[in-house]
Amino acid sequence: MVNWRQTLERTRRSTFGRIASLLGDSDLSPEFWDSLEEALIQADVGIETTQEIMADLKAFARQNGLTRSTEVRQILRERLVALLEHPGTPPFPPPPAVHFVVGVNGSGKTTSAAKLAHYWARGGRSVLLGGADTFRDAAGPQLALWASRVGVPAHISEQGSDPGAAVYEAVQAALAEGVEVLVVDTSGRMHTRHNLMAELQKLVRVAGKVVPGAPHQVFLVLDATTGQNGLEQARAFAATAGVTALILAKLDHSARGGIALAARRLLGVPIAFVGTGEAPEDLAPFDADEFVDALLS
Ligand code: GDP
Repeated sequence: MVNWRQTLERTRRSTFGRIASLLGDSDLSPEFWDSLEEALIQADVGIETTQEIMADLKAFARQNGLTRSTEVRQILRERLVALLEHPGTPPFPPPPAVHFVVGVNGSGKTTSAAKLAHYWARGGRSVLLGGADTFRDAAGPQLALWASRVGVPAHISEQGSDPGAAVYEAVQAALAEGVEVLVVDTSGRMHTRHNLMAELQKLVRVAGKVVPGAPHQVFLVLDATTGQNGLEQARAFAATAGVTALILAKLDHSARGGIALAARRLLGVPIAFVGTGEAPEDLAPFDADEFVDALLS
């Protein structure tokens, strides 16, 4: 069980704690509204999302004759949950479910791929880890180490080999072995962003040729500590690589967990998981209610 309060400790200490104390008990003065707006922006909720929330809260307060900040707390909570909620993860297709993990180097991509494999293996599914990051030095050995750590078999292609062939072979292996889930770690570095995106699109096509409908999920790993800059990169992935869900990694390390709100809005895909530490089991399905409660507590 994930401890959401502990995971969001840094965020609460640095940014959201201020929001919680603002909502303590004060008049709904112009200063209150300004401070709340400023705090949401500082928490990396994003300017557009903040402005939308503010307009909504002010209209609600006016229409309902609210006078105290404590009365705003509940409505803010509801709005934040509504912004983050999603209908749940899609059902698994007939085996193999092919899941890609994409993101820039350093975001926590490989760690997240291994954690995902571990998560499903613990849930009783047969899992194969596929290594298609053939660009980065030692990416294969790093993934192999993770695979043995979490007790999941891996099909890893050699450094320097063609990533398309790597995906092809991993999907073939998943089919041949009859595994339920294949988690593919992809490359996060190319000479240019354009190259990287073109490469990812190619990998998507290759997977789909072996198993129609694959990849069934494309998880974009977003480093929760990078703030708004990371979002710009994320947008490029979401636009071209067919991202279906986000993994918000390093949430435990971030002082700006509000990025979840900005990311959800900007990228238009649900946050499926969050990274809560460096150990294999430190991956939790996202829960909007728990997340918001921990932020505002
Ligand atoms: P990649 O280059 O994107 O594949 O990144 P890695 O998976 O190698 O991770 C980069 C660093 O981030 C490593 O030191 C990981 O241990 C660390 N890391 C990844 N996910 C998390 C997380 O959820 N919490 C914390 N605290 N560290 C993480």
